[in-house]
Amino acid sequence: MKSLNQYITEKIHELPKGVRGIVVFDIDDTLLKVDPNSIHLYKKDPNTGKEIALTTSQFALDPDSTDHKDWFDYRDFYDEEKVYQSIVNATPMLKNLKLMDAYIKAGYKFCFLTARGCEDTIKSALKEFLRYKDEDGNLRELENIFKDKYSHAINDEYKNYPGNTDAEKKANVLRDICKKFDEVIFVDDNVQNLQHARGLKLDNLKVLQAWK
Ligand SMILES: [Mg+2]
Repeated sequence: MKSLNQYITEKIHELPKGVRGIVVFDIDDTLLKVDPNSIHLYKKDPNTGKEIALTTSQFALDPDSTDHKDWFDYRDFYDEEKVYQSIVNATPMLKNLKLMDAYIKAGYKFCFLTARGCEDTIKSALKEFLRYKDEDGNLRELENIFKDKYSHAINDEYKNYPGNTDAEKKANVLRDICKKFDEVIFVDDNVQNLQHARGLKLDNLKVLQAWK
């Protein structure tokens, strides 16, 4: 893979007048890394009846997370205060933010696409968290570059996103965004999400693996 700077200079070009472009960013492990203690999953083992709290990375490694989904409680992901705090206190992932800056400078709009819930809470938290560097190197709020309308949390409790898996749901959202924009850039760290997005085979969609 090319270095980030090389990618930016070689591949990102100012959008011609009248051409509509948008960058679609995943949130976790793409724009930011949450503090492992900010949000937990709760596992109740039916044999012992005891509940234990797991971090998201412990959950990802737990074989029961796929075999016994019903043992887990996801309440933190629907707790608006915890969700908000998990984002505003997260660690920014500078390389991907630099990529975002470069696309914004080239005239692209921004939206997010996450597998979390609490869509509205995430919109306000991310607006608080995100800044981009303008031409003079000043950090600025995204304001009208941030497109609420195209930003989605596909496991929102009150919305229904079609698809059997998170990767399918994300791909379906991307397909719709590609109908509204001439150039769409999707950045995500998850292999399944990247594969499904590439599988859409849309000419105006570019799929990028997030930098670490
Ligand atoms: Mg991610």
